[in-house]
Amino acid sequence: MNNVNHEGAVVSPYTVKAIEIAARRGVSLTDTRRLVLELLLEAARPVGAYRILETMQVQGARAMPPTVYRALNFLLENGLVHRIESLNAFMACTQGSDRHDVQFLICDTCGGAEEIADSRVSSLLQKLAKSAGFRADRQIVEVKGQCGDCGAR
Ligand SMILES: [Zn+2]
Ligand SMILES: [Zn+2]
Repeated sequence: MNNVNHEGAVVSPYTVKAIEIAARRGVSLTDTRRLVLELLLEAARPVGAYRILETMQVQGARAMPPTVYRALNFLLENGLVHRIESLNAFMACTQGSDRHDVQFLICDTCGGAEEIADSRVSSLLQKLAKSAGFRADRQIVEVKGQCGDCGAR
């Protein structure tokens, strides 16, 4: 599953993916930003900032909390990750190539989450907000329940 780069070093598929995503979005990743994005891609579920920091330290990165928070903010601002408010956690964006409104299906049982980014949902909410005289700047819709895996058990 691992790729080998031209220097013969083993590169994880998440590193490759992180670099691809950054290139597609036209943003440059420092080592810390790339590491944070890689961890989130690998986890494929919501992860809290503290857990990200812990994992980086276990892997030997000399990461400090402010560094991790700055990296997360950068990734958030550029739409490479989403923040799930109710879990106080972050997830790598799996959709599209631009910043977008997002809906999350969040499992109460396993804590997993799935991203949907359906423009029909966001434009309907946009319209409803507008007719209520509200200017909607961003939407993060969190739907709680049970995922397919947990429901089948
Ligand atoms: Zn997304
Ligand atoms: Zn579940």
